[in-house]
Amino acid sequence: MLELRHVTVRYGAVRAVQDLSLTVPERSIVSIIGSNGAGKSTTLRAISGLVRPSGGEIWFDGQRIDRLDPKAIVARGIAHVPEGRRVFPDLTVEENLRIGAYLRQDKSAVNRDFEQICGEFPRLAERRRQLARTLSGGEQQMLAIGRAVMSSPRLILMDEPSMGLSPIMVSAMTQVIQRINETGRTVLLVEQNANVALSICDSAVVLERGSVVLTGSGAELRNNEHVRIAYIGV
Ligand code: ATP
Repeated sequence: MLELRHVTVRYGAVRAVQDLSLTVPERSIVSIIGSNGAGKSTTLRAISGLVRPSGGEIWFDGQRIDRLDPKAIVARGIAHVPEGRRVFPDLTVEENLRIGAYLRQDKSAVNRDFEQICGEFPRLAERRRQLARTLSGGEQQMLAIGRAVMSSPRLILMDEPSMGLSPIMVSAMTQVIQRINETGRTVLLVEQNANVALSICDSAVVLERGSVVLTGSGAELRNNEHVRIAYIGV
């Protein structure tokens, strides 16, 4: 469904992503793990059109997308949940969710998805008239994910959804990601928390200094000695 072929992204002299190739099959969960500065966020930003690769190609559904602008990429069905709970603090929970659907024309489908998200995230439903700034960190992270789902994407890019969450919220978040996937959506997940990322994915890559150094199923990578020492800490 999504394919990156030899993608390189530079910020001036810094090569943040180097010759990265990655395949994300339809309906799968694929994880990218790596430490700070490995190039994980940059990879997602390249897919969603926020930065332009200096080399390589990105294909989605058989079409090349690495020359499109971010709005055109959203319209093709790719949603990006950026790092750090980027919600609109002075809008209500409901307004934040509905903004996710701003490109959609079919208002009754939008209302249906809104009700479904309220069912999926009861905490957001209870707080739908509250300003987003008054939500806890974990609730804001859920809101950011709910907003992405409101664009009715087929592929969701998630940047460190577990960051800063308590263990209970991390496990709630893991379940939300799995349910989103079960509704037929494909997920590309970036995580520093290798335990989370490898427990829910179909396959994963390890990124170091902008390049893929290991690939495998979640179970294979969890048993890999380098991954255990460097990313799981056992
Ligand atoms: P983290 O988990 O810390 O966010 P990451 O794996 O997501 O790390 P990136 O944010 O993709 O890593 O950064 C990769 C490299 O690119 C880093 O060396 C970073 O300093 C550099 N970089 C990222 N954004 C910019 C920018 N706007 N300008 C210059 N360099 C950048």
